[in-house]
Amino acid sequence: MHKIDIDLIEMTLDVMKYTIDRISKTDDVIGKPQKAETLKALVGDTVTKEGIGGENAFNLWKKHLMHANVKIDHPRHLAFVPASPTRAAVMFDLVTSASSIHGAYWMEGAGGIFCENEAMKWIVSLTGLPQGAFGVFTSGGTAANLSAIVTAREYWRSLDQKNQNEKGLIITSIGAHSSIKAMAKVVDVDVLLVDTEDKLQGEALQNTINSLTAHQRQRLFAVVATGGTTNAGIIDDLNGIAKVCNKEHLWFHVDAAYGGGALVADSVRHLFNGIERADSITIDPHKWMFSPYDCGAVIYKQPELAKKAHAQEGSYLDIFKDEGAHGFNPTDYQIQLTRRVRGLPLWFSLATHGTDRYKQAVERGIELANIAGKMIEDYKHVELVRDPSLSCVLYRRKGWQAEDYRNWTFDNHNKGFALVTPTKWKSGDTFETVSRFCFINPDTSEEDIKAILESML
Ligand SMILES: *Cc1c(COP(=O)(O)O)cnc(C)c1O
Repeated sequence: MHKIDIDLIEMTLDVMKYTIDRISKTDDVIGKPQKAETLKALVGDTVTKEGIGGENAFNLWKKHLMHANVKIDHPRHLAFVPASPTRAAVMFDLVTSASSIHGAYWMEGAGGIFCENEAMKWIVSLTGLPQGAFGVFTSGGTAANLSAIVTAREYWRSLDQKNQNEKGLIITSIGAHSSIKAMAKVVDVDVLLVDTEDKLQGEALQNTINSLTAHQRQRLFAVVATGGTTNAGIIDDLNGIAKVCNKEHLWFHVDAAYGGGALVADSVRHLFNGIERADSITIDPHKWMFSPYDCGAVIYKQPELAKKAHAQEGSYLDIFKDEGAHGFNPTDYQIQLTRRVRGLPLWFSLATHGTDRYKQAVERGIELANIAGKMIEDYKHVELVRDPSLSCVLYRRKGWQAEDYRNWTFDNHNKGFALVTPTKWKSGDTFETVSRFCFINPDTSEEDIKAILESML
């Protein structure tokens, strides 16, 4: 299986050719799913006793299977949160795989972890957190949020014997990402939602806390603010929330999985003021820091608290605490033991391009949102639901119902032209179905936006 032979060399060249083709053109058809039965009929049995051979399997991938995936980095993929990994990062993702590095402990992965930490220092510097703050790369925002909530809960339990047997409670707003509720379930803590999809203000948080019963107040240990809501790019009142958390002795977590990339952008940096007062922060490099999937990050003001919550014990692990292995062990600060050095592609890309290029690329996403906003104002058939925020634009097609948005989405997707999906926006007591753009890819053009808007005529 591992012997080097001519076939392997040919296969390597094929893979390289495919990779180069894939990362040098992203603007052809966008790709769409097929039913599993359809795919099975196309490719037949692939996992067999004798194997079907690499060339065969790769051809099936190229001919059929790869087309059943959406290219998330396509310039007209503006749904959910798109991606746009740099070519440098993609190439180094291959190097990361080929290098077989165990990224849990310094003893085994010192070189890779060193590079990750260089990239992490830059990310931490964007937050303005005080000296001593640091973080680790995770599989994504969900894992980062989970790691932070566990740290906060363990810290709260350590403060008072009374908290040991209590179920914890956290407060966030309905604008928070679905992963907060999902991870609260994993940790078995309750979530109280402040009923606003708009900016969560310190005052609304204080009012919510004031309305708690004495027992709820005892169980409350953390507040989750959002630094760029996934739906609309809204940044909560981080300064106001920090002030309340400080006064009430609550853990202050900022989920900036999507928006965190914009910390580098001078035009919007002020909107994040207060983030430097957080106890923990989530940022996804695979969203707006141009990393390939998957790469999230969790950052702590006091990493030693995360270590108390997450460091794993086991006789087979004692060797890692040996003198010769001293260094930073990423496993101690999040939920995973064995881990890919998934910050390595980001490091290579940052080293290749420099951080100024990151600033320009993020600013372009924000600029595209503003350009789209102006176009929407100029057309008669569409109108803005709210002003663009970060790189999100919510707008409506006048006269359309939910079903019209849905049909339009599938029509564009089936043609391989674009993927733009509807969402809901809550104003007052009603949820309205609207259309949404989220820009990440700096290669999306004004013509792309125009063509998409005109397909709604
Ligand atoms: C995307 C997102 C998440 C989840 O991150 P994954 O990397 O998909 O796990 C969490 N919070 C926010 C605000 C997000 O936008």
